[in-house]
Amino acid sequence: MTAPALHAPRVNRRFTRHIDAGEVLFDVGERGHEAFIVAAGAVEIVGTVGGERRRLARLGPNELFGEMALMGDQTRTAQAIACEPTTVYVIPHDTFSGCLHRADPLLRHLLRLTILRARAALRDDLASQLIPPDYETLQDDHLDAEREVVLQRLLIEQDLAEALERDEFSLHYQPILRLADGDVTGFEALLRWRHPAHGAVSPAVFVPVAEASGQIVPMGHWIIDTAVAAAARIATRPGPTLTVALNLSIRQFDDPQLFPTIEAALARHQLAPDRLKLEITESLVMSNFDASRDLLRRCKDRGIGLSVDDFGTGYSSLSYLHQLPVDTLKLDRSFLSDVLTNPASLKIVRAVARLAADLGMQTVAEGVETTEQAEALKAIGIDCAQGFLYARPAPLDQVLESLQSA
Ligand code: C2E
Ligand code: CA
Ligand code: CA
Repeated sequence: MTAPALHAPRVNRRFTRHIDAGEVLFDVGERGHEAFIVAAGAVEIVGTVGGERRRLARLGPNELFGEMALMGDQTRTAQAIACEPTTVYVIPHDTFSGCLHRADPLLRHLLRLTILRARAALRDDLASQLIPPDYETLQDDHLDAEREVVLQRLLIEQDLAEALERDEFSLHYQPILRLADGDVTGFEALLRWRHPAHGAVSPAVFVPVAEASGQIVPMGHWIIDTAVAAAARIATRPGPTLTVALNLSIRQFDDPQLFPTIEAALARHQLAPDRLKLEITESLVMSNFDASRDLLRRCKDRGIGLSVDDFGTGYSSLSYLHQLPVDTLKLDRSFLSDVLTNPASLKIVRAVARLAADLGMQTVAEGVETTEQAEALKAIGIDCAQGFLYARPAPLDQVLESLQSA
């Protein structure tokens, strides 16, 4: 008895193909642009084994074929022929490459490698499956480059696993200044990793790895506690309220301990919640809107400040803003680079500043490096600035010292 087809045939003409008995669906040497699933009928896969034409498989409904050439982006090593009038569903290359592109890099690499090995074993003779695959044939530039990336990622992931215990992380703090009077209004906490062998590793390199592996969750607990402790030390200084902002990753939103960890840190270090801010990127909010909104509302109800980070790099959709209890927009550095030279950019930044003011939000320009940029931003109504022009991120002790001498 044959298994029922996944869907009734002819659901979607574009992805369904009918072939007559004896018709060849693909042949040896053709480029593998598509994979197929048998919807109804049967297909025979025919290959050359030991110089002889041989039936390798007969596939019925729901069975997948043609995937090896598609995944490996290679030519076909066997022929597919309809045994009877047959309908197949087509999986186009674009669909597959989109999935592959979104997959975890390690999985992607393993998949490619597995396919290449399977093909190497199949290619000349089925008997070669009994012999270890010829690794020479696995040389492939694309694969080599990918292997490099995957290997680096694996090494980072392994070292990250011990970094917390070995106390290799620290937070550096970069001031945020009010453009009108140059006063510091707060700091952003930025994660630093001193690797025992490689020295300082950029967060732009290891944070994405920690996000993908989930290691950002325990790291996040440490970041929250450390940043809150720092904010409490900064708060002991007389003068206006200074905030400390910390960065949150998407994975941390799935952590049921996120809010309790924040609460516990506030209590442990006796910090008033309005001295803490959370920075979340625009893309994080958009990819997980409902969960973000609920969590952010809880934080807001507690009086914790919220900033949308990298504003203008993601969806640039302003429509969601009023639904979120956001009080600060941090304009991405990319906006700045041509604010001075491109009148269109200037107009956009001015419009954003006006919109934010209308919504009762503060604006912070990130990555300010020159006085010209600072002047231009001030002139168009941006409230605050952060960047190397004022200070590089620095350890807490240095920050406390600079506040003392200010
Ligand atoms: P971000 O949140 O957008 O942080 C701002 C980045 O811009 C920081 O890079 C900062 O050092 C850099 N920056 C500040 N002023 C200037 C400037 O004038 N010019 C230039 N060229 N760059 C400037 P950093 O510290 O390398 O961090 C990179 C990214 O890593 C951060 O981007 C953030 O996405 C992520 N990250 C850093 N710390 C944490 C953390 O504690 N948790 C999470 N989840 N992500 C973090
Ligand atoms: Ca940030
Ligand atoms: Ca940013």
